[in-house]
Amino acid sequence: MRRIKMYQPRVAAETLPHLQKIFEQGWIGLGPETALFENELSKLPEVGGHIVGVNSGTSALRLALHVSGVQPGTSVIVPANTFISTAAVVVQHGCRVLLADIDVNTGNINVEHVRQLLQEHSDVKAVIPVHYSGIPCEIAEINMIAADRQLTVIEDCAHAIGTVHQMRYLRDYDNVRAYSFHATKMIPVGEGGCVSFPTSEMADRARLLRRLGIDSSQANWSSPYEIEEIGFKYNMNDIAAVLGRSQLSSLSERIERRREIITRYVQAFSSTNVRPVVPIRSTDKTGAFAFSVRVAANLRDQARRHLAGVGVQTDVYFKSLDSFRVGLQGNVPEARRFSQEVISLPVHDTLCDDDVDYIVDHLIGAIN
Ligand SMILES: *Cc1c(COP(=O)(O)O)cnc(C)c1O
Repeated sequence: MRRIKMYQPRVAAETLPHLQKIFEQGWIGLGPETALFENELSKLPEVGGHIVGVNSGTSALRLALHVSGVQPGTSVIVPANTFISTAAVVVQHGCRVLLADIDVNTGNINVEHVRQLLQEHSDVKAVIPVHYSGIPCEIAEINMIAADRQLTVIEDCAHAIGTVHQMRYLRDYDNVRAYSFHATKMIPVGEGGCVSFPTSEMADRARLLRRLGIDSSQANWSSPYEIEEIGFKYNMNDIAAVLGRSQLSSLSERIERRREIITRYVQAFSSTNVRPVVPIRSTDKTGAFAFSVRVAANLRDQARRHLAGVGVQTDVYFKSLDSFRVGLQGNVPEARRFSQEVISLPVHDTLCDDDVDYIVDHLIGAIN
């Protein structure tokens, strides 16, 4: 029997000597490796912008809200089909979460529902769309609505390294974007993340706030640093940065391989009752962080159990945020339905074609 894991990080062998070097140099906190990583990320077509490295994607979202000036006490629109982080930071920031429903074909936020929420609630100041599994959401349209209503848009790009929307990388849009380098994500470093800002002014402020507001730029012998504004303890460290840097040279290749795997899945599922969740426009490309399919809700759990029985790990991205006991509310029937039908399948770049065929055969077998 095969053993196919849902996640398989491939931290390149060349990382180890590089790690050894920073251990010998004796500095593993926030330092030069983080600055180099940030600089490299800002040059990548798949990321771009003014980059500030932090210790998680959740921290990245929270720092983004703060630096964007979203006022506590206002409301923020978040899609129901996302990881809890997207909503948790809104609550932590002192704002109210308004859950938006989704389009089940892409798993992404439903723009019509966003419009409706804006009509019903006059205190909305921000929206945090997610590019679900790497599939671009309707970001151009959301930006237009936001410009009309003077809303802040913060893109949750935890899945979206490499995402292409209407032939453009997300860096072409002037939004604040939050990325995750969590153990399961496209550039896993253990725990980590970054915020991409459209201006250097925002990034400079975030660089102070990520480490408690500590500013050593005017240091002298009697005063090592000044603090103008209380910040967070969110900074990245150089161990994480070394792990991240070592994965950048293979990044586009790994995204390409994941896209190939997804194409193979999609072809194999055509004319079956397994419905792939993929971009609907030919000018869009998934960043291929994950790949989900939908099956009949009454067969979903047995299908996952069957796959587990033949050695294939799967996941559920995501349970609708209104279904947890923490009191997040919204009228989100499509997100509810999606969460009962969805199965997220392995798509990491160490899968071979035979693995994909094996998963396809067992999934089709399990529901027929
Ligand atoms: C992983 C994830 C996050 C949070 O990232 P962490 O690095 O785990 O804090 C935020 N949003 C989405 C959609 C995610 O999948």
